[in-house]
Amino acid sequence: MAGSKVKIWKQDPSVLNIGIRSSYISTEVQNGPADSDIILQGMPHVVGNAEKDFIFYPEENPLEFDAVHTFTIVRQVLTMLRRALNRMDITQNFNWYWGAEPIQVYPRAGLDANAYYSRNEKALRFFYFHPSGDESNSLIYTCRSFDIVAHEVGHAALDSLKPEFLSSSWHPQTGGLHESFGDLTAIFTMLAQLDVCEAIVVESKADLHTKTFFPILAEQFGEAFGRPMGLRNADNDLKMSDVSTEVHDISRVFTGAIYDILADFFELYQNPALYDHAESLFKVGKYLTSLVIASLWQGPDANATYTDIANKMIELESDDARKEIIRVQFKKREILDAPVGLRGVKPRKLSWKGCCGTMRLTEHQTLFEKNVINEALS
Ligand SMILES: [Zn+2]
Repeated sequence: MAGSKVKIWKQDPSVLNIGIRSSYISTEVQNGPADSDIILQGMPHVVGNAEKDFIFYPEENPLEFDAVHTFTIVRQVLTMLRRALNRMDITQNFNWYWGAEPIQVYPRAGLDANAYYSRNEKALRFFYFHPSGDESNSLIYTCRSFDIVAHEVGHAALDSLKPEFLSSSWHPQTGGLHESFGDLTAIFTMLAQLDVCEAIVVESKADLHTKTFFPILAEQFGEAFGRPMGLRNADNDLKMSDVSTEVHDISRVFTGAIYDILADFFELYQNPALYDHAESLFKVGKYLTSLVIASLWQGPDANATYTDIANKMIELESDDARKEIIRVQFKKREILDAPVGLRGVKPRKLSWKGCCGTMRLTEHQTLFEKNVINEALS
């Protein structure tokens, strides 16, 4: 029998209403768990049963469960991205930035409220922390968050597709695109799963602007910092003039625009007389995933701006009604036809804060800052 059955958190441990789920990985999984793309580090070697299934529960075997959960999310994201790239003939052999060697994944990398992707370490590291730094609060493991794991894989994937975004770009919006792509990767990977589409439709009654777990990113992490709406909320109304040039802050505008486009496409496309809402959401999700990835791929190699990607999306979209939706949503965000001089548009020195440490790493930051300084001097 090919493939493996696994158990994972659907969202993260704080989203109890959808809890734990079984999932099927159709590709070969070795003990570890590991495969040709992913190797776990710093965890016990987890051995599957005779059917090559990896069935553990968080209460009884937390280490094994976390290992299998983290491996599975990285695997699901990678499969989703590879399918999208193959569908669009972008590349038939998507590998990490460094080639065919697997990425090293550390589900329990140490004590810190952080997670990051590092190109130099060829690694994803997920840390754990006591909320408010108080040791009497139970530890929160970032690897248990579907959104945080998917976000970091998103950084790794975008770095593999567009390496100059990290290594030779100074524009804050390029940093914003990196952060936004992380959050959108979480959203796209959720939409690539039929049962999650069903859960979204049930919870929202088929209106994506209803408050549900879906647009709320990193619920448990956000809660630990007193944010009931998660670390970031994709269903937001932020415009360019509302945000700073900090990469996480500015990323919310682009993510919000894509989320609204998703909601509008879903409304336009759904036809309950013919199709179940969950089926329509699944299809719209796949479509928008392809459109966003193709637009990033065909956009500039360095210093890509939101306007570049918005225009590329309009260019690649063939349907007039959908073209109009994209145009309207990016206009609302002050990304298209906006007055010059909005805060997010002007390149200036970047600041680094927020959970995800990818853009704060010295290896990525030095290049960014060096280029910012060069830009200021020239
Ligand atoms: Zn990030």
